[in-house]
Amino acid sequence: MKYTKNAFERAENTLTARRIKAKEERAERISQIKFEAPEIYKMQQSLSSAGFSMIKFIGEGKKNIDVRSEVAKIRSRNLQTRETIGRLLVSFGYPEDYLQYHFYCPVCSDSGYHDGVRCQCLDKLLAKYTTEELNSQCSIMLHDFSEFRIDFYPAQTGNIAARERMSTVYNDCRAYADNFSDSSSSLFFFGKTGLGKTFLSSCIAKQLLSEGRNVFFGSILKLFRQIEDERFRRREGDTTEIIIGAELVILDDLGSEFQTSFTDAVLYEIINERLNLGRPTIISTNLSMKELDRKYNDRIVSRLTGCFLPIMFIGSDVRQEKRKMGI
Ligand SMILES: [Zn+2]
Repeated sequence: MKYTKNAFERAENTLTARRIKAKEERAERISQIKFEAPEIYKMQQSLSSAGFSMIKFIGEGKKNIDVRSEVAKIRSRNLQTRETIGRLLVSFGYPEDYLQYHFYCPVCSDSGYHDGVRCQCLDKLLAKYTTEELNSQCSIMLHDFSEFRIDFYPAQTGNIAARERMSTVYNDCRAYADNFSDSSSSLFFFGKTGLGKTFLSSCIAKQLLSEGRNVFFGSILKLFRQIEDERFRRREGDTTEIIIGAELVILDDLGSEFQTSFTDAVLYEIINERLNLGRPTIISTNLSMKELDRKYNDRIVSRLTGCFLPIMFIGSDVRQEKRKMGI
C-alpha cells in the first residue's frame, strides 16, 4: 500500500515520542526504587556498569583471551542478576519488570522495525495518518454527541412515535461508539433528508477519531471523484486500499454520486472486501428501499440489506425545525 510522505514523517515522530516516553517513565521508576529499595537500585546499577565493561572489554581486543567465552560469562552473570532483581522487586510488591523499558510495542521496542521488516505498529500508524489526510479533504463537519437535540424531532410522525424512536437511534449510536471493536456490526442509516444521519455518523467518527482509531469519514460523491481521478491516472494515490484497511469506514449520502458502472464496481469492492475481512462500515442514504433497489444492482442491494443492520431515521427535516425555532 502507498502511504504518503507526510504519514511517514508523522509516524516517525510518534515512534520517537513513544521511545522518549518509555525512557522517561523508566528513569522515574528507577529514581523511585533508588529511594524506596536502595539494595535493588544498587544491583540495577551494577547491571549498567557490567554492560559498559563488556563494551570496553570487546573494544580492547586483548590477545590470548577468549573474548567469546568472557562475553558469554558476563552475559550469564547479567542474566542471573536480572532474575534476582525481578524476584526482589516482586518481594517488595513491585511488578517483576518494573525496572525494564515498557514500550508501547514490545515487538519492535517502538523502533517501527522488527527483523528488518516494518512492524505492525508502524503499519497501523501509517494507515491511520494516511486516512486522516483523506478525511482532511472532507468538508463534512464533525459533531459531538452532546450537541444532539431530541426536541428537534416531533413527538409523532404519522402513527410513529418519532421522538421516542429517534431517542433509541441516538442511544444506539452512542453505544456503538462506546463499545466499538473490530467485530462491531455494519450499519445502514436510511430515511429522508435532514433527519440527522450525517450528524450522528459524524458523532461516531469524532468519538472514535479522538480515541486514535483509524476511521475514514466522507461523502460518497467526493470519494468516488477521487478514486476515479486515481484510477484514470490523473492523480497519485491508493484511496480504495486505504479505505478497505480502515478500522471503520463511514460513507455518507449513498445515491449522491454520479453513478457509472465504475462507481458501482468500486462501491461493491469496498462493501464486499470489508465484509469479507469482518470490518465494519456505516453507510447512510436518503434513498427509499424502492429507490435503492431500482438504482443499484442485486449484488450491492443484497449486501446492504442482508449484512448491514438497518437503522431508520424518522421525523421532519431538522434544518426546517431549527429555522422555525430561530436557531
Ligand atoms: Zn512495533
